[in-house]
Amino acid sequence: MIKLNDIEININKIFSKIHDKCEKTHRDFDEIKLIAVSKTVDFNSVLEAVKYGITDFGENKVQELNQKISQSNEKINFHLIGHLQTNKVKNIIGKVKTIQSVDSLRLTKEINAISKSLNLISDCLIQVNTSLEESKFGLKENELEIFLDSLFEIHNIRFIGLMTIGTLTEDEKKIRNCFKKLRFLKEKYSNYNSDIVKLKELSMGMTNDYEIAIEEGSTMLRIGTAIFGERNYLL
Ligand SMILES: *Cc1c(COP(=O)(O)O)cnc(C)c1O
Repeated sequence: MIKLNDIEININKIFSKIHDKCEKTHRDFDEIKLIAVSKTVDFNSVLEAVKYGITDFGENKVQELNQKISQSNEKINFHLIGHLQTNKVKNIIGKVKTIQSVDSLRLTKEINAISKSLNLISDCLIQVNTSLEESKFGLKENELEIFLDSLFEIHNIRFIGLMTIGTLTEDEKKIRNCFKKLRFLKEKYSNYNSDIVKLKELSMGMTNDYEIAIEEGSTMLRIGTAIFGERNYLL
């Protein structure tokens, strides 16, 4: 397990890298949110990260997310970044800042229904499979328009952006292409003829590719390993 001390060092290092990248690319540091991905990480480490300026955390499993939220306070934001099963939607609505992994109309309808029953609007991102790897969740580029065309009965969701996972490769060009594609789609559909679709956010960039993601316009970086160290899935 990572030493708490290292979390401070890691966070400072990342903030400073984001800063440098922003200067080089003439971007505003404040328009980039660092989401610390805390899956498999214990709550003490979360609290340590909060001490050094992290306000937002990403989790990929509903159960673990709820465990963390139950120990948390309202100053900490949680985001669901992993695949969400329809039958678990009821366990997270109203508790997370965003659901970043919306990847089907069926899931959208369920999020909408539960949000409606609780009289609230849920902020969501649409996950796009930009790498076209079969193992990845997300709508394919050519499915996005049909999806957006199908939202006419949805009133309790706001789609505020797009999310993607860059392809896992050493080839920087291929990673960059994923991010370029996401940005292109955001611009194409940013006000897609709908009150509920206002795409502003680009959630892209992880430990190994966040600097490329900043260059390509990311507004939400989801970084785990570079903050909390290698994950131990056996815990
Ligand atoms: C685990 C995870 C991350 C963080 O990955 P690191 O490489 O550890 O930074 C980001 N996004 C998603 C969707 C994840 O599941």
